[in-house]
Amino acid sequence: MRFIEPHAHMVSRTTDDYLALATAGCEAVCEPAFWAGFDRGSAEGFRDYFCQLTEHEPKRAAKFGLPHFAWLCINPKEAEDLKLAAEVIAIIPEFLDRPNVLGIGEIGLNRNSRNELKVFEQQVDLAARCGQLILVHTPHLEDKLKGTRLIVDAIKSDRRINPARVIIDHVEEHTIELALDAGFWAGITLYPESKCTAARAVDMMEKYGMERLWLNSACDWGVSVPLAVPRAALEMRRRGHSAAAVDRMLHGNPLKFLGQSPKFKLADDGKF
Ligand SMILES: [Zn+2]
Repeated sequence: MRFIEPHAHMVSRTTDDYLALATAGCEAVCEPAFWAGFDRGSAEGFRDYFCQLTEHEPKRAAKFGLPHFAWLCINPKEAEDLKLAAEVIAIIPEFLDRPNVLGIGEIGLNRNSRNELKVFEQQVDLAARCGQLILVHTPHLEDKLKGTRLIVDAIKSDRRINPARVIIDHVEEHTIELALDAGFWAGITLYPESKCTAARAVDMMEKYGMERLWLNSACDWGVSVPLAVPRAALEMRRRGHSAAAVDRMLHGNPLKFLGQSPKFKLADDGKF
């Protein structure tokens, strides 16, 4: 089996996790910028984080033969402070030319507040001006449907954005159609306690098809499973999906979306 992990917060994972990913057939990891589990004190804290994502983490991944890619932004959880958000957004362009940066993400909403939406739109504007791909975080639980609607409407109203270059992540049964019907990609996040199980993910795949869909673990500093993506492949096989279908879902699809950035390349021919 081979797969791409398109959404993992590796800065908070151990070297054992890298080893497990590599031995399970992972060919690349992609790391969106997100909340650290605590609020950073200043824009300089974000600068350090962007250096970590673009300089240090790729070296750590390379020790396990894994290409590492990053997305940059200020996340919705810290976007309530408009002054801080403006300072962070001003820093981001300095990093966009770095060789492992794929785009702007994971931007989105958390509590669906007015300030979060304002900062979200500012970062969509940044992506449009700089020709960047966009990765979107959608809110949790009761805020998800309303937040996803706000997000989809905000992006659709910006005529510069091609929806095929945007992925709406953490979709669930009640939001997946909102993303796909508008021409966006959709990401299903496999979590042990919330978001989605492998069985629910494969149910959605069977109902809506595999077009413009990817799976990710979104593993971070909390309870999460770095090998959730290859484990979902077992669920696909158990239900009779072919090896080719598994390969399309776990490898072909993320490659198709991420490959829209000329920087996204697997090591040599995809082998270590
Ligand atoms: Zn994330």
